[in-house]
Amino acid sequence: MHSELRDYRRNFRDLARFNPALKLHANYPLSGVSTFRIGGEAGLMAKPLNVGELIKVLTFAQKSSLPTYILGGGSNVLFDDLGFQGVMIKPTGDFRNIEEKENLILAGSMCHLNELAHLTADRGYDGFCNLVGIPGTVGGAIVMNAGASGSSMADRVEEVTLINRSFKMKTFKRRELRFGYRSFTAPETGIIISALLNVGENVGKNVASVKMKERYDERRRLIPKGPSAGSVFKNPPGKYAGSLIEKCRLKGRQVGEAMISPRHANIIINKGKASAAEVTTLIHMARFEVYKKFHIELALEIKVLNRRGGTYL
Ligand SMILES: Cc1cc2nc3c(=O)[nH]c(=O)nc-3n(C[C@H](O)[C@H](O)[C@H](O)COP(=O)(O)OP(=O)(O)OC[C@H]3O[C@@H](n4cnc5c(N)ncnc54)[C@H](O)[C@@H]3O)c2cc1C
Repeated sequence: MHSELRDYRRNFRDLARFNPALKLHANYPLSGVSTFRIGGEAGLMAKPLNVGELIKVLTFAQKSSLPTYILGGGSNVLFDDLGFQGVMIKPTGDFRNIEEKENLILAGSMCHLNELAHLTADRGYDGFCNLVGIPGTVGGAIVMNAGASGSSMADRVEEVTLINRSFKMKTFKRRELRFGYRSFTAPETGIIISALLNVGENVGKNVASVKMKERYDERRRLIPKGPSAGSVFKNPPGKYAGSLIEKCRLKGRQVGEAMISPRHANIIINKGKASAAEVTTLIHMARFEVYKKFHIELALEIKVLNRRGGTYL
């Protein structure tokens, strides 16, 4: 092992050992927390159970000059083969709480969209039916404004509560939030801890269940099996990224164990032990060929993380 890397690993082990109250995991494999199943190790992994623990972790990272990265379901990220030399934060415990309030739900940032879809369809509401099958959490889905079949999280969000850069809790109303195509901005940046969501129209349990099943079956037909992070690129205005890549004859193109899906050209599949480097080679290839043929620059939808926490590409 490279000596610099060995030193990093030892430092992280010591940081975890000398801060037992934070329950940090040193040298944590990231492949296990990403749907791509790719990535090196996070120097430290924190799994705070509540807001108090989250703030302690953030304070520790700030004092230690370590970068932090907040993770939801890990279904839209590609981690670096060299991992992440900072504190990866994957909340749990209270962050998975759900409180029902008539036709609103107060959901912790780590609640899964599927869980919300089933819960609300059971009560007869159709608001989350179109989002069923998206493997994200409330926090990640808001940040990405995740969507399918003409609906997106923007239709559901009434309020967002986050921990801002000064570690203070702030709640922002719908009118203060900006949602775009796979994008979200609030007046302050930070870590989303919960959201107040509307559950849509009451169409009755049977109608909601049928709608949800239809969407689910449709997704099963369209989305290729195997570890991936869903669509790699955003669709350019009026076009489909997948169809542009397909027209460049890149469907099925493989680099190492990473492959552009033969079923859906905007999805890269990890066929086994693909590396982030193999996936990024395919990303460059698709961008290059699409630009050469159509003069269109494809923008990334997935977040490609480097080892200091910046996103690149
Ligand atoms: C098979 C498959 C199918 C998919 N289909 C779709 C689809 O149909 N439509 C669609 O829109 N997407 C789809 N995706 C992509 C992905 O599921 C969504 O973008 C999802 O919303 C990401 O949620 P997550 O919790 O996994 O976020 P992560 O991948 O964990 O994080 C995504 C981003 O959100 C940030 N983030 C996460 N949690 C928080 C938080 N609490 N506070 C602040 N920032 C946070 C992260 O830092 C990161 O920048 C698919 C992915 C897969 C693997």
